[in-house]
Amino acid sequence: MAERILAEAATIAYTLCGNRYLNITSRCTLRCAFCPKFNGSWEVRQYELRLREEPSVEEIIAAAGDPSQYREVVFCGLGEPTRRLEVMLEIAERLRGAGARIRVNTDGLASLVHGRDVTPEFAGRVDAVSISMNAQDEPTYDRHCRPRHPDSFSAMLEFSERIQRYVPEVVMTAIDGLPGVDIAACRRLAEGIGATFRRRVLDVVG
Ligand code: SF4
Repeated sequence: MAERILAEAATIAYTLCGNRYLNITSRCTLRCAFCPKFNGSWEVRQYELRLREEPSVEEIIAAAGDPSQYREVVFCGLGEPTRRLEVMLEIAERLRGAGARIRVNTDGLASLVHGRDVTPEFAGRVDAVSISMNAQDEPTYDRHCRPRHPDSFSAMLEFSERIQRYVPEVVMTAIDGLPGVDIAACRRLAEGIGATFRRRVLDVVG
């Protein structure tokens, strides 16, 4: 019972800039050195995002509210949403059916983690993905993202290429200002595989 009360108090959904964000897990595949949660804070803006218990599909749908009130519904918290791939896709399908535009902010490692090409499963459920490429090469990526799995950088690039067959809008992002990150080279790499590139600023969610 105590755990259930904690889960109900957690921030499952939050609103920023007219978008509704869904925080469905605190688990990650990466351990990014620049991440607030590895620097002593689980807060993004005024929202405390640590989930001590993962919410159910129905809890997330209830927390999402009326999707017509928002520009986009975005899967984004301080965890990787594709760690709960089936839950995420079910919610995406249901909210999209209710009129939402769906975006997934991801590390692009879902196929690596799940051991199969999961990109076709996004078709008709997700309108946009934003993939954190974070670096122009593997050594720089490994330095900042500290992946748990070998070959994460190349797996992220392959996911970014394949997902374009199934999702209309694919954006790859990198954070300007991290040591060794060459934003111009990141842009060339992203555009070279057919994605749009967006430069991000540290600590700005979106
Ligand atoms: S993927 Fe995102 S939430 Fe996970 S460690 Fe990296 S910055 Fe933090």
